Amino acid sequence: MRPQELRCAICGHTKFVCIDSVSFGNWLAIKKNRPVRKDFVFRLKRCAFCGHIVSSGDYSAKNIPLLYPQSGLAISAIKTRPYIAQSVIDYVYPYLKTSDTIHIADLGGADGTFLKTLISYLHARKRAARIIADNYDLRVQRKKGVINFYRCNFNVSTDVRKTIRSFDFGFCIHVLEHLTDPRVFLATLSSNLQKNFRLYIEVPANELLSERFGLNAELIHPQHINMFTKPHLEFMVAAAGLTVIKSRYEANGDIPRIQIVAEKRSDDPGKTIKRFIRYKHSLFEGVAILLMRACRARKKIAVWGVGQNLFDIIKINPAIVRSIRSGDLVLVDLNLSGKIVCGAPVIHPKDIATSGFKIVVLPHEEQTVKSIRSSAGQFGITQERMVYPYKKRNTRFPA
Ligand SMILES: [Zn+2]
Repeated sequence: MRPQELRCAICGHTKFVCIDSVSFGNWLAIKKNRPVRKDFVFRLKRCAFCGHIVSSGDYSAKNIPLLYPQSGLAISAIKTRPYIAQSVIDYVYPYLKTSDTIHIADLGGADGTFLKTLISYLHARKRAARIIADNYDLRVQRKKGVINFYRCNFNVSTDVRKTIRSFDFGFCIHVLEHLTDPRVFLATLSSNLQKNFRLYIEVPANELLSERFGLNAELIHPQHINMFTKPHLEFMVAAAGLTVIKSRYEANGDIPRIQIVAEKRSDDPGKTIKRFIRYKHSLFEGVAILLMRACRARKKIAVWGVGQNLFDIIKINPAIVRSIRSGDLVLVDLNLSGKIVCGAPVIHPKDIATSGFKIVVLPHEEQTVKSIRSSAGQFGITQERMVYPYKKRNTRFPA
């Protein structure tokens, strides 16, 4: 079987450049007093498009126990470093909602290590009357005290989907870097979350690695498949449909870390854009009505600006063309004067300086409106004759 093509978790591209390799081995058994060793080589590859670094090698199920010899599949950065839990709580505390019930999920639980600290912290501050705490661990399902334990493999999207319930807050601490496709994990999570759900994400900050941290952290290890930088992580979080509320580097312990609080928001940019287009359309409708009313009352009127706005307004009421042809509606434009548009000649502003009729300024961009206003003054057209139809704001922004 052809191995699955390596795809960048950040940008989705498949072109990589090998930058180095990491050797990793483990003792398999001792045969006749000789330990037998299994060795692997993992290649560190850099995405040719966005620069994200990924470890590539044999991440098949049979190799996983060799990669995590002491702990099976448990991810234990937080278990061995209690200072992380306190720094996480300090960072998210203002964002934990106060209500009767808080439903918290630890996605990548490390035996509930973090949840236990968090629950006692929240109880001490009477933050919630009831705390529902779910710990999703890669190991077996158990029941322990006040925390519900679930088995969940974050590399399997169906596993992720069925665990998502009515969470208020989730914690994903030193997990994403261990996943083969953290983008799919986050996107699956995000699409199944309730609105206003908040997610704390923490991963090592690989761009801050230096001799200052010594060899303690050993972040360049095949257990870490995706080696995030802060900009790459933020991009991936946003691409999964979550809004980054705040983020920072934290380097107070033996691992340089990236901390992010993200939120599932309800605002849909598609809706906002559609609403704005409706709003603009209703402004043009207002102008079309204004022009037709004047023409029907046999009042001569001019429009200044023969451009897109004129044609958008004609589309709303094609009868405007008839008024242009009959001469009831005069087209005025500096650049197009003398040309024929909609069957009538375009007039230079200086030629209507002495006539008394109103002139409706059709463009809406501030700079264009300004230059028309100053040209009018230049040709002796008084401001009383000028009508700026979008300024009246008599058309309300639709809800
Ligand atoms: Zn990439």
